[in-house]
Amino acid sequence: MKVPFLDLSLQHKALREPALAALAATYDANRFCLGKDVEDFERNFGAALGYPRVLGMNSGTAPLHVACLAAGFGPGDEVITTPFSFIASAWGVSYSGARPVFSDIEPGTYNLDPAKLEAAITSRTKGLVVVHIFGQPARMDEILAIAGRHGLFVIEDCAQAVGARYRGTPVGLAGDCGTFSFYPTKNLGGCGEGGAFVSRLEAVQGIARQIRVHGSDRRYHHDIIGGNFRMDGFQGALLNVKLPHLSGWTERRRAIAGRYLAGIRLADTRLPAQPEYGRSVFHQFTILHPRRDALREHLAAAGVGTDLIYPVPLHRQKCYAGLGYSPGSFPVAEETSATCLSLPIFPELSDAQVGHVIASVNSF
Ligand SMILES: *Cc1c(COP(=O)(O)O)cnc(C)c1O
Repeated sequence: MKVPFLDLSLQHKALREPALAALAATYDANRFCLGKDVEDFERNFGAALGYPRVLGMNSGTAPLHVACLAAGFGPGDEVITTPFSFIASAWGVSYSGARPVFSDIEPGTYNLDPAKLEAAITSRTKGLVVVHIFGQPARMDEILAIAGRHGLFVIEDCAQAVGARYRGTPVGLAGDCGTFSFYPTKNLGGCGEGGAFVSRLEAVQGIARQIRVHGSDRRYHHDIIGGNFRMDGFQGALLNVKLPHLSGWTERRRAIAGRYLAGIRLADTRLPAQPEYGRSVFHQFTILHPRRDALREHLAAAGVGTDLIYPVPLHRQKCYAGLGYSPGSFPVAEETSATCLSLPIFPELSDAQVGHVIASVNSF
């Protein structure tokens, strides 16, 4: 039996007719940049997931960039984030001219370890980019207590956590703002690039809205330096077709994760932690094993696709060599990168395929 790591064609085949009809309507109405489809999506996304205000943007990196500009980060500032994430979690900080500072993760959730955070704070620290990695919320109460003591601006990178909740509250509302990605492989994926910015704070959302469209809220009047971070109409139209399916897809991901958690019984394997405070949406199901590469080969031979997410932590990336970190700087992130293996977890997997993944892991 073959189990691909990810197959987006099944979802797109199933939605082909409504997707193409929505695209045709947008095309015929010439609604190409922001416009009705994007406004509808912003309203629908907010209503479905519990956000008071939403701004559609043109990637998941865009709202991180906008957030760092809205926060006022700049040269001389330090902003703390996790070394175990996709590189874009740090890009906004770098684009703003501030310096990314990393702080180690905790085992189990693979998220920022609040117990280690305070040691990374200096007089230059202005903010935090908290990532809810693999769809598992980070420990926001502890993190926000530290941020509050030091007056830090908190950005939540929710790119992998659409639909996830922290103590019942949608991720992205505890900090000053939250960011989403609709890259095709995300839990809610567009057909191209897309992202969103949310905030519980009207003032923060207002600045972000201006930055999104060239620093202006009146045509040809530019009060602040902005950019072009607009979502295009086609993505808004497609996301409106997909959004009603998200909760079903999420339940299916959680059911598959439940089977993996109950069924995987391979010695020396560490399964992702399920702390009671956070409802994960399982963007990835990532296990740790000391003989990860051999396990991966064994699974490939059994027809099971896997991926290494992430094989190199951010502080060990060449682009950040100038920050002065060395091997051993963040032992938990480094061990996680060296031993992590992500298993297939997309909603269209059949029960038989899930069973085959479990049996194949256990037979290693
Ligand atoms: C995908 C992702 C992003 C960036 O999103 P793009 O849409 O690719 O720009 C940012 N942060 C995390 C954690 C991501 O997984």
